[in-house]
Amino acid sequence: MATIRLEKISKSFPGVEALSGISQQIESGEFFTLLGPSGCGKTTLLRTVAGFYRQNEGHIYIDNKLIDNVPAYERNTGMVFQNYAVFPHMTVYENIAFGLKNRKVPSSEIKRKVAYVLEMARLSGYEDRTPDQLSGGQQQRVGLARAMVIEPEVLLMDEPLSNLDAKLRVEMREEIRDIQRELGITTIYVTHDQEEALVISDRIAVMESGVIHQVGTGWDIYKNPTDVFVSSFVGETNFMEGDILGEEVGRIKIMIGKQTIQANVPKSGNIKGHVKIAVRPEDISLVQKREEGAVANLNADSTVIEGKVEKNTFTGPLVRYLIDCGNNIHLVVETHKPEQASLIPVGTSVFIKIPISAILCFNPETGQRL
Ligand code: ADP
Ligand code: MG
Repeated sequence: MATIRLEKISKSFPGVEALSGISQQIESGEFFTLLGPSGCGKTTLLRTVAGFYRQNEGHIYIDNKLIDNVPAYERNTGMVFQNYAVFPHMTVYENIAFGLKNRKVPSSEIKRKVAYVLEMARLSGYEDRTPDQLSGGQQQRVGLARAMVIEPEVLLMDEPLSNLDAKLRVEMREEIRDIQRELGITTIYVTHDQEEALVISDRIAVMESGVIHQVGTGWDIYKNPTDVFVSSFVGETNFMEGDILGEEVGRIKIMIGKQTIQANVPKSGNIKGHVKIAVRPEDISLVQKREEGAVANLNADSTVIEGKVEKNTFTGPLVRYLIDCGNNIHLVVETHKPEQASLIPVGTSVFIKIPISAILCFNPETGQRL
């Protein structure tokens, strides 16, 4: 097992700085994911670690050994690609054995090792097929088996599931995770799919435009985003802007349109002027105005504004509401385990109840969490 250390890695292509000073330590046996929108530099960073690209600045260490000048084929890394990259004219067995043959491994050893990874990738019995006789998921398993059979210190996977259909992706991400855990191999995984990242990773680095915004567990980045970008890219968020009216007993009051919202005093203590607040759809609940004692149900841990149901959409496990709060403020609200009888019709006036702990405050100019 191996640690990976990236020290101030920068990489430019003509006209674009793909990576800007990335520093990151990845622990031995860790499943580490690079998450970000298309073009943010994920593939470039992965290929730089693999040695396919040479960084313009910075250093890469594997197990504290500087590998900047080690060519790709001598770096002990296995790579799995988005488009499978299996050899079409070779059988499954030959595809997987390829890397071992290149390394002049004795054939009895090759047999044993290939059998082992075939079993692990659930491909036993498919040895003699060619890739055109396999499904997409099976082809990607061949890609995975081929990367693993050389027993790399580091496994690098670039959107390995993005060519598969949705159901298979969900299955395969669990399989990849199980195999990685079993082998304990240090892994860098690339995806633009935030749910996939949350499910599969020990830690996630959220990237944009060649920089890392935040590194943390799925819980960290979802519940405790450091800035507006992370908050909006990971999961769905309602943003509202307003002016801070003042502070009292550990709370601030924020004017949003014509209504006021309470929030916890930001850690930074910077509580003046304009503020951007964020709240997740699933944290908000709705109370129909006609319900008796609706307001009395409120407690000191929540803040309430008013609005009108604009839209209600049943998706199975939940109902999504769009609520018009006036002044061009529209909130998405999700109600889980919905009952048909309690569906709130379009046009109904509602109280919108938000737990104060679910409200995050950001600097609207810099996007940084306050
Ligand atoms: P991602 O994998 O996150 O979608 P990439 O690492 O592929 O992003 O690309 C990052 C940026 O670098 C993009 O602006 C892309 O156009 C550019 N880029 C990537 N590879 C090359 C290349 N070989 N030549 C020129 N520009 C490149
Ligand atoms: Mg890419």
